[in-house]
Amino acid sequence: MASEKQVRGKHPTEDVMYDRLVGAIVDKHLRPGEHLNEAKLAEVHGVPRSRVRRVLERLRDESVVTFELNRGAFVSRPTVEEARHVYEARREIELVVVRLVCERATAKDIAVLRRHLEREEKAYRDRKPSVNRISGDFHSLLARMARNPVFEKLLASLIHRWVLIQSVYERTTGALCFTDEHVRIVEHIAARNAEAAVSELAHHFDHIIASIDLTRDRRSEVDIYEAPDPTRLAS
Ligand SMILES: [Zn+2]
Repeated sequence: MASEKQVRGKHPTEDVMYDRLVGAIVDKHLRPGEHLNEAKLAEVHGVPRSRVRRVLERLRDESVVTFELNRGAFVSRPTVEEARHVYEARREIELVVVRLVCERATAKDIAVLRRHLEREEKAYRDRKPSVNRISGDFHSLLARMARNPVFEKLLASLIHRWVLIQSVYERTTGALCFTDEHVRIVEHIAARNAEAAVSELAHHFDHIIASIDLTRDRRSEVDIYEAPDPTRLAS
């Protein structure tokens, strides 16, 4: 799998293209509702259109991209109902995952988590724009350390969809995750205290849901100000 991710020559592979598009969404360079012009993406990244199309279809299968008849591909704009479903699924799966991590994490995994926390604190302190991506990576690391590829794949998709939900419904801009809560979760994992880790993560999810406003559908409001511009280069 790792070799597939490498760029062959100058032309990015499908996995690299996928990572680039997901990265652009996580960093909010691509916003919900934005048009993804297949021809322009192919030109900018120097890949055949068929490869762009496969990446877009993969993102459609994860509900991150939506295809509209005769209009092409757009970054999905989740409804309030979808947001609730994604939150519920993500929370339940992550609570199981953190329990598994308490059982299965190696000493090396715990060292990786601690190094990640240092990066996260630094990004937060320095007010880096990448702080959201870095705090989201914490959850992806947990998913990997549960050593269950089914959970890992499900969570990757739910975490990407959560970024879109956050873009549309967040109350204030800024870091979604709370670094001190991540620190406590890691300490409970290191102590192999599954009950405490689950309880801390549940508390963390209470804060995550409180950071967004799902009391009304804000999609149409946002549309007025963020009409997708099909001429913009989506890169
Ligand atoms: Zn978090």
